[in-house]
Amino acid sequence: MKQGLCEQLSVWFITGSQHLYGPEALVQVGDNSGKIVDGLNKNKLPLPIVCKPIVTTAEEIRNTLADASHDRSCAGVILWMHTFSPSKMWIGGLNVLNKPVLHLHTQFNRDLPWGEIDMDFMNLNQAAHGDREHGFIHTRMRLPRKVVAGHWSDPEVVGRIDAWQRAVIGWNDWQGARFVRFGDNMRDVAVTEGDKVGAEMRLGYSVNTYPLGDLVGRMDGVSEKEVDELCDVYDKSYTVAAELRRGGKRRNTLREAARIELAIRGFLVEGNFKGFTTTFEDLHGLTQLPGLASQRLMADGYGFGAEGDWKTCALLRAMKSMATGLKGGTSWMEDYTYHLDPKQSLILGSHMLEVCPTIAAAKPALRIEPLGIGGKDDPPRLVFTAKAGRALNATMVDMGNRFRLLVNELDVIKPPQPLKKLPVASATWAPLPDFKTSTEAWILSGGAHHSAFSAALKAEVLEDFATIAGIEYIRIGEGSTISALKNELRWNEVAYLLLQGVRN
Ligand code: MN
Repeated sequence: MKQGLCEQLSVWFITGSQHLYGPEALVQVGDNSGKIVDGLNKNKLPLPIVCKPIVTTAEEIRNTLADASHDRSCAGVILWMHTFSPSKMWIGGLNVLNKPVLHLHTQFNRDLPWGEIDMDFMNLNQAAHGDREHGFIHTRMRLPRKVVAGHWSDPEVVGRIDAWQRAVIGWNDWQGARFVRFGDNMRDVAVTEGDKVGAEMRLGYSVNTYPLGDLVGRMDGVSEKEVDELCDVYDKSYTVAAELRRGGKRRNTLREAARIELAIRGFLVEGNFKGFTTTFEDLHGLTQLPGLASQRLMADGYGFGAEGDWKTCALLRAMKSMATGLKGGTSWMEDYTYHLDPKQSLILGSHMLEVCPTIAAAKPALRIEPLGIGGKDDPPRLVFTAKAGRALNATMVDMGNRFRLLVNELDVIKPPQPLKKLPVASATWAPLPDFKTSTEAWILSGGAHHSAFSAALKAEVLEDFATIAGIEYIRIGEGSTISALKNELRWNEVAYLLLQGVRN
C-alpha cells in the first residue's frame, strides 16, 4: 500500500427488523447477521464489514445512521431487512445518513426446507417482502444506492459487493483530498478547464495553484546524497540507457530528473497532497519537463494531470485507490494516433512522457530523447508498451451544470509490430464495441483526449462510483449503439436539470 491509498476503513452491516415476532426471533436474527458478515468477510473484500446490532425502532435507526455518518472509519453502510422493518421508521435516519449505501437483498437460508418449513422459518427469512418495503422508501426518497440481490454465499454477489466497496474507497479518498496545480491550464484548451468550486461542492476535493518557484526553491534544498540514492534506485529498477548510467555522458541530466522528483515528492508529502498537475507552458526555473518524476509518482499512487488537467488528475488518483490490491495498473493516458485498418482499427495511446509504469508489459527502459515541446533540456523518461488484456478509459467531463463520468471499455493488444522508434511509453487498444462506434460515442459525449486508463478496474466500479457521487455515468462498450447513446445524452440533459427538484 502506498501513499495512504486505503486508510483503515470499514463498512457497517445494519440489519433492520421489528418487534412483532418476540425477543427470541431477534436474538436469532442477530446471530444470523453475524454469520452473514463472517461469511462475507472470508472473501478478502477490500474493506472489512462490521456487524452492528440490529435496529428495530425509529430511534435506534436514527442513532445508528447518525453514528455511521459521523464515524470517519465508516466508509459506507450495507442495509438488509430480514423481515418487514416498516420503512417510515427509516425516514429520519436516512435523512441524516451521508455515507454510501448498498442494499443487500439476501436471505439467511439459501434453500427452503420444503418438508420442514413452518412459521418460525418464515419469520426469519422474510427479506422477500422486507427488502421490497425498504426499497420503496429508498426510491421514494431518491436515495442513490446499489441494490445487490442473491444469496450472500454467491460469488457473483460477493463480486458486486467488492465493486461497490472499491467505489466507496475512491469516494472516501476524494473527501477532503487536496490537489496541486503547478501552473495553470494549457493556453486556450477548453476541456481541461472546469468548475473547481463545483467540484469541491459535489465531489469533495479541492484544487489549488502553487507557484513553480516554490518547487524550484525546494530543489535547491535537495542534497547530493539524496540524488545519489535515488539514482541508485533508478539503476536497479529499470533498464538504463548507457549514456544515463553512472559515468555516462548524460548522467547529470538524470541527476537533475532525480532532483525534480525529490522536490515534487517532498512538496506533496509536506502538503498532504494526493496528486498534481504540470504544464509545459510554465516550466520557469526547471531545466526539464518533469517526466520521470510524474511517471514514478503515479506508480506510487499519486494522481497526475498534464497541461493543467486537474479533473483527470483527481480521477486517476481515485481510480488508483479503488484499484488497491488488484492486478493490472492504472495510468494517465491520452488518445494519440490511429491505425485505421478497416479489418481492425486501433488507437495508440501515449503522452509526451507521462504514462505510469504500472501498466507496463515488461521492465521499462530508462532513456533520454529530445522533446520538441516546452523548449527545455531533453528529459529522461521510462519507455515501455502496456500489457495486453481488458482495460478501460475513464474521463470526467464538466457539463456546466453537472459532471459526467465517461467510460470506454478496451481490449489492449500487443502492438502489431515493435514500436522501435517511438521514444515514449504507449498502449495500443481496440476500443469496444468497435472503433467507429466508440470514437463517435466518446466525441458525442464530450469526452476529453485525456483519460485515466485502468487494466485493474471493471466498469461496474466506476458506475457505482458515479452513483455515490451523484453524477452522470455514460458507458461505451459491448452493446453500445450511437442511436441509444444520443437518446441517453438527450434524456440525461433533462433528468439532471430536474433531479434537484424531485428530491425534496
Ligand atoms: Mn495532452
